[in-house]
Amino acid sequence: MSFWQTKTLAQMNRDEWEALCDGCGQCCLHKLEDEDDGEYYFTKVACRLLDCDSARCKNYAQRKQYVPQCVQLGIENVENFHWLPSNCAYRLLADGEPLPAWHPLVSDSPDSVQKAGQSVIGRVISETELDPDPERAEQQLQDMVIYWVE
Ligand code: SF4
Repeated sequence: MSFWQTKTLAQMNRDEWEALCDGCGQCCLHKLEDEDDGEYYFTKVACRLLDCDSARCKNYAQRKQYVPQCVQLGIENVENFHWLPSNCAYRLLADGEPLPAWHPLVSDSPDSVQKAGQSVIGRVISETELDPDPERAEQQLQDMVIYWVE
């Protein structure tokens, strides 16, 4: 059995915790909240620090400095993981679910995320491409809600 099958999130060491991230980039997409039912809807607009061609943060080490609202995932905020995409390993394990077959820890291949249609590579735009006018940018976000991330 592997560490993610035998340990709880709280028991994992730093390397194990970091290895859970499959690099899909979905959590770096802007979300809109429906005020009526509290549901979150993902958009195809990514954080300004996300490299949309690789789905990697361009400045992971100092990201809080440039994007203060970026959430650092840790065991201390595990009860709030419901905002993460439903296929995110942290959310799955927090909910007692297994990792999917395409997760690199299971498939032993980093390419399996993209092959399974889980990566944002080539499918999203950067928020830097939005209209500079906040009202028009908000409208653009609403027009770019996607349903392939839940
Ligand atoms: S959604 Fe989860 S698995 Fe995907 S990049 Fe974000 S933290 Fe990693």
